Amino acid sequence: MTPSADLRKMLAEPESGPPMPALFIGHGNPMNAIEDNEFSRAWNAVALRLPKPRAVLCVSAHWESDGSRMTAGGRPRTIHDFSGFPAELGRVQYPAPGSPTLIGEARATAPAQSLAPDLEWGLDHGAWAVLRRMYPAANIPVVQLSLDRRKDPAAHYQLGRELRDLRRRGVLIVGSGNIVHNLRTLRWENSAFDWASEFDQRVRDRILAGDHAALVRYESLGATAALAVPTREHYLPLLYVLAAAGESEPVSFFAEKVTLGSLSMRSVQIGG
Ligand code: ZN
Repeated sequence: MTPSADLRKMLAEPESGPPMPALFIGHGNPMNAIEDNEFSRAWNAVALRLPKPRAVLCVSAHWESDGSRMTAGGRPRTIHDFSGFPAELGRVQYPAPGSPTLIGEARATAPAQSLAPDLEWGLDHGAWAVLRRMYPAANIPVVQLSLDRRKDPAAHYQLGRELRDLRRRGVLIVGSGNIVHNLRTLRWENSAFDWASEFDQRVRDRILAGDHAALVRYESLGATAALAVPTREHYLPLLYVLAAAGESEPVSFFAEKVTLGSLSMRSVQIGG
C-alpha cells in the first residue's frame, strides 16, 4: 500500500483500532443508582480501568419494542420507569448527550438488519442507573438499542454478532439486565435461593467455556431455568455482549453475587 493509500484508509476509518471491551452489567435494584455499595463501586471501578469510549451502546432490559430501534436524538431524556422508590431516585437526571450518527454506523456494520431510529425514548433506568456510576460526568454519548419482542434469542444473538465491529470504532457495548431475575420470589435478605445460585453458576460455567449455543438455548440449562428466567428481557442483554466477543478473548466477572434471593448481580467483561 502506498503512503497516500494508507492515508486515505485512515481517513475513511478514523475510529478503527483495538476493540473496546464489552460489558454485561447486572443492574438489580434501582437503588443501586444512588447507593454507595459493592455493586455501584464495581461499576465505577470497571469504567476507570477501561479506555475512554467514544460512545456507549446500551442494550437495556427495560426497553422492548416491535422491531429493533435505536435512540437517535441528541439530548436523550432521563426516564424514571419505576414506582415505589424514594423521591431522591425520581429526581436523578443523567444528561449525557446522544449520538444521532451512531445508527448510521450500526446500519453499515449490520446491513442485513433493520434498525429504526427512535426520537421518543431516552435513557431508561437500566441504562442510567449504571452509567451514572461509570461515567458520573455524563460526558460520553449514549445510545440505546431496544429489545425486539419479535426476535427469538438466536436472532438477538445474531444482531449482537453483526454489531460486534462497533467495538473497533471506539463504542462500548453495555448490556444491562440480570442473569437471574425473578421478582415474584424476591425476599429482603442478602442471600440466594439454591435454585438461583445453581442457574447463575451454570451460566457462569457456560460463559467461561465459550459455549454460547447453550446460553442462547438457556431454557435447556436445567430445571431451574424457568424459575431464574421467568421472562427473558433481563437475560437477553447478556446475549448481545457474548455475541460481541471475538475468538479467544479474555472473559472476567466484576460482580458475582446473587442478592434478594433471586436477583443475580453477575457482571461480565469481554476483552481486556
Ligand atoms: Zn431491571
